Amino acid sequence: MTGHVSADEVYDVIAAERPNISRATVYRNLNRLAEMGKIRKIEVPDGADRFEHWSHKHYHVRCEKCGRIFDVDMPYMEDLEARIRDTHGFDFTGHDIIFSGVCPAYKNKADVNG
Ligand SMILES: [Zn+2]
Ligand SMILES: [Zn+2]
Repeated sequence: MTGHVSADEVYDVIAAERPNISRATVYRNLNRLAEMGKIRKIEVPDGADRFEHWSHKHYHVRCEKCGRIFDVDMPYMEDLEARIRDTHGFDFTGHDIIFSGVCPAYKNKADVNG
């Protein structure tokens, strides 16, 4: 699979070929693969977690209208953690950014419908 898919979407694809597989098994395996670093888990605020193949580090934008997740064309800020001044004793190990927006597909649809 490509893009950013939810566990439900992965389940639907697998269940089409293996009807006996349970939803819980698919969820468990996805989370295990993410823990092993084989795939990347994107935790979406107020939405279902998405999974994607690991590639370069990048940021995401979520469409406020349809809820889909897209990659953002923007350089990854490797040194962002180093810029934090008041650390409260934390060791910062990474960051994720999910922007909000409205996708072109939704905008086009809205234009057509007025
Ligand atoms: Zn959209
Ligand atoms: Zn992505």
